[in-house]
Amino acid sequence: MHELSLAGGILGIVEAAAQRESFARVRQLHLCVPALAGVEVEALRFALQAVAPGTVIEGAELVIDEPAARARCAACGGMTAVREQARPCPHCGAYRLQVLPDGGLRVVDLLVA
Ligand SMILES: [Zn+2]
Repeated sequence: MHELSLAGGILGIVEAAAQRESFARVRQLHLCVPALAGVEVEALRFALQAVAPGTVIEGAELVIDEPAARARCAACGGMTAVREQARPCPHCGAYRLQVLPDGGLRVVDLLVA
């Protein structure tokens, strides 16, 4: 499962931060998962809960933002926000929207205990 390896990656980031900033407990983990980044948010929540026990994120509240992706129309050059693939351009109606890479999943913030 793809989300399980993502969860492991997030845990690695948080544990590195815990070591660097010497905290032992995360109260809230704030993530950003842009639409169309290929991540199932529910599966990611589940995976994080699966890897959490015994780690710094055990018991942490999970806050996940799911902003729309940005796309540029290859026909008219207009910019728009998209949440689904295969939508027409709102400016010219062409089915030529190209989703711009947005960095994908990232850790936004950590509240530590
Ligand atoms: Zn267009």
